[in-house]
Amino acid sequence: MLSAAVLTAHLLLQTQALAPRTPGDTSGYWQQDVRYTVRAALDEPSGVMMAAGRIVYRNNSPDTLRAFYVHLYLNAFRPASRWAENERREGVKRFGELPDPYHAFERLGRVLAGGVPVRPTYPYAPDSTIAGFPLPSPLAPGDSLTVDLEWESRLSVIPRRQGRQGRRFDFVQWYPKVVVYDRFGWETHPLYMAGEFYGEFATYDVSLDLPGDQVAAATGVPVEGDPGWAAARATPETPVTSQADWYGSRPGAGALAAWGPAREGRKRVRFYAEQVHDFALSLNPEYVYEEGRFGATVLRTLYLPQDRATWGGGIVIQRMAHLMGWMDTIFGAYPWPQFTALHRVEGGGTEFPMVVMNGGPSEGLIFHEGGHEYLYGILGNNEWKDGWLDEGFTSFQSGWHSQVARREGPGARGQGPGTRGQGPGTRGQVAILGMDLDGWSQPLSLPAELYSDFSVYNQMVYSKGALFFEMLRYVVGEDAFRRGLREYYARWKLRHVDEHALRGAMEAASGQDLSTFFAEWLHGTPLVDYGVRGVQRERTVDGWRTRIEIERLGDGVMPVDIAVPVGDSVLVVRASGRTPREVVEVVTATRTGRIELDPARQTMDWNYLNNLEGPRPPFRRTTAVGRKENRFGWSATEPARRDRLVVNWMPVAWFNAVGGVTLGFQTRSNYLARFELNTTQFTWPTGLASGAAVGKTARLRPDWFVSVRNPVRLRIPRTEIAMATWWLEGRVGGRVAVEREDRPQFDSPIRMRAGTSLAVMAVTDVRYLDRRRWDDWNTAELTGWAARSVTEQGPSASVGRLELTIGRSFDSRVGAKYARGSLTLKRTVRAGEFDVRLRAVAAGTLGGTSVPAQRRIFFGGADPYATFENPFLRSRGAFFARDAVHYQAAGGLGLRGYSPVASATWGVALNAEAAWRVAERPARRAFSSVSLAAFVDAALLDRVALGRSAAVDAGVGIRASHRIGPTRFVTRVDLPVVVTRPTAAVAGAVGDGVFKFRWVWSLEEAF
Ligand SMILES: [Zn+2]
Repeated sequence: MLSAAVLTAHLLLQTQALAPRTPGDTSGYWQQDVRYTVRAALDEPSGVMMAAGRIVYRNNSPDTLRAFYVHLYLNAFRPASRWAENERREGVKRFGELPDPYHAFERLGRVLAGGVPVRPTYPYAPDSTIAGFPLPSPLAPGDSLTVDLEWESRLSVIPRRQGRQGRRFDFVQWYPKVVVYDRFGWETHPLYMAGEFYGEFATYDVSLDLPGDQVAAATGVPVEGDPGWAAARATPETPVTSQADWYGSRPGAGALAAWGPAREGRKRVRFYAEQVHDFALSLNPEYVYEEGRFGATVLRTLYLPQDRATWGGGIVIQRMAHLMGWMDTIFGAYPWPQFTALHRVEGGGTEFPMVVMNGGPSEGLIFHEGGHEYLYGILGNNEWKDGWLDEGFTSFQSGWHSQVARREGPGARGQGPGTRGQGPGTRGQVAILGMDLDGWSQPLSLPAELYSDFSVYNQMVYSKGALFFEMLRYVVGEDAFRRGLREYYARWKLRHVDEHALRGAMEAASGQDLSTFFAEWLHGTPLVDYGVRGVQRERTVDGWRTRIEIERLGDGVMPVDIAVPVGDSVLVVRASGRTPREVVEVVTATRTGRIELDPARQTMDWNYLNNLEGPRPPFRRTTAVGRKENRFGWSATEPARRDRLVVNWMPVAWFNAVGGVTLGFQTRSNYLARFELNTTQFTWPTGLASGAAVGKTARLRPDWFVSVRNPVRLRIPRTEIAMATWWLEGRVGGRVAVEREDRPQFDSPIRMRAGTSLAVMAVTDVRYLDRRRWDDWNTAELTGWAARSVTEQGPSASVGRLELTIGRSFDSRVGAKYARGSLTLKRTVRAGEFDVRLRAVAAGTLGGTSVPAQRRIFFGGADPYATFENPFLRSRGAFFARDAVHYQAAGGLGLRGYSPVASATWGVALNAEAAWRVAERPARRAFSSVSLAAFVDAALLDRVALGRSAAVDAGVGIRASHRIGPTRFVTRVDLPVVVTRPTAAVAGAVGDGVFKFRWVWSLEEAF
């Protein structure tokens, strides 16, 4: 966890250090001049690059430098690095245990600073991704330094941004890379799992000695030697344009000649680049080469022979040109000679200046990574400090491109039923809102490794980062936003950028003060909620005056668009959103229609249920207002909408021996799949087919069951609140429950729950009771529970749950206290085609005869309170509750071969099941998975229950899983052919033997 003190310290540091600079203005900005000249030879069998190089460094800062630092990034991908330590903490096994021939390294040999030998030190040892050395003499402002280095570097066989596989080598961050010195000082920062790189804009002059058949792709242009493209052309007609003359005569000729001739079977090639902050190189003798053009820029792609159908034939080149056109439109001209997309060893994609290394050819990936050429490459942010400024920005621009393409493309404006209630970035909004509401979100400005875990970092930097830009566009308007982007690029291209650079450009373009917006969205985790408080309309001499009062209910401040329908059109006015209450007056010729806030759903307003003008007080306070979507159907899962309550209506029907045929309807609702999870159910017993013995049961007054879960007005992070009340089949009651869910970190497989409930259940009509299971007694209970579950890889899981209840039973005459408790442990392990499940349970009651039957421990399965919400089990004669039906409800002590009406005061049971999956057809609806099982259940019980203290059953069964729409369910048939107390067995009779053919079935897993 991040402490508030750390965060505050970080903020203070930024504020103080920034004080001298005018926000956004480039005056006073400086960056260092760096020039790398490198000679490197690859020894393919060992995978080691042996290199020597010179760094010429000019100090443009106002400070005198006394030390010098380089990154040795490849040392992250080996044991003992900070990266490996991160992985160990998050339970990832990758570089921490990788042995010597396989891990990466980067080792310095001789180092001379200004011609004087120096010894490197490693300030973050045992991590060695940063090396530093004191300078023999201080480097004054304006002075230059020459550093000569020798080093060896190797890539790891498990790829991560870099990597090697056979003769394929993705050499990135493979050389001692000068640490950025900016206005914060030396940015010495080890490489962690979260966060990427930061580099000085520099000139790279890199001469390589390689096996003769290798095909090389790299940052820059080949100015001498042969990278191998001509021989790797996709077709003989494929043009090969080196762009060797892009930099004119500046690279000079003869560097390779000065190095001398290559050995037999090897070749030499020299790449040259200016104004880039990294140099990436990829080698593969099998590369196939294609190229294209966007204006003055040559586009190259290098792919594998088997990629011809997916990368070749101009497919990837066309996508790259498309991307370059889009970026040119939003920012301006690309300044470099070429752009390469190549198929690397690892999946996914990573950006480097002029080069993206991708695992696939998709347009989405090309737009994301290619967008980084501008948003990281040309506008060079510090990626571990401001990851939102490259990852969030490029995620935003590629989403924006899709929005524009949808708006302008053929078949534009996808307003099908599936897109109702969706605004720009809605999917991302919902995911991030979940984290905001549960307190998992952390500020975008946090240094990458300080996020609580890797997935929070990813969610914040990519998704919330993209939403930041969505909202910025909303706040300043699309025209000013586009002008601001061009201004940002014009001012800052080929420079280091941060939030102040962006803010300055956006303020200049929009004329708005954006300090509050940047502060709250980059340095905080605000929750936005605006509501319509009231609307008054009055007739004036020449039309109507509408007075709209909005209220700010969250800590986030955003301007609020207000949609005002007038006749056939909709007027949009904007409130500042700054004050807790705000009034906007609109004067119109005709009467205005229903007012709505943020009609395009462009903000992170978490609660849209108060955004629509609703009914008058007092009802407005008590009912969820806003848009409602009524649906009709039997599906168990309704869609979740961003801007409306979804209500599903469904007729219901069932039967029991008392009410007879029972008919009614049920509604279920949800907002955002997490709020207003409410149910209402009204049913009428018709008395039809209830039988003469029970008398008249048909009536006009319906039975009801009403429950409310997680109302928006009672929002508590990571906490569920539920309230229910019922008058249902001879029982009346109510329940209030609160449950808190927590986990050690956001993406942890561990879940901890603790909760408490208060419940009352009273009998009003004994005819509905199966008196073997339910006494004519009422109960009031206070229950507390705690549970912990761990989901491991695959479906393996373990669950532990402790529950304790104190209750009071009473009827019209007496009352007595009792207690009830249980501890349940479950373990599921999947091994190949086998599932092994174990369950241990200990449960008992205290209170003797004051414990009514319905609160005893049932050893055949679940107890009556646990199954009360199931109409097929609730009452006497309900379909699954009939003796002849042999239905086994999972729960209790789980002795599935025993009668469901048998109970004990205490019991300790062990259930074990081994299932063999004989068929798996995931595409099918019915019988998508079928398995055969063998099981045994054993228990120790109080002697009174069975006359013996031990009970065992065993047998075989078959299970199948199915789905109806999105709902999955199982059918289970078990044959408990062995039951040690046969008279208490399911459908047992006097004279039965231990071995007998018996059967039970269920719609649930056994446990
Ligand atoms: Zn990215």
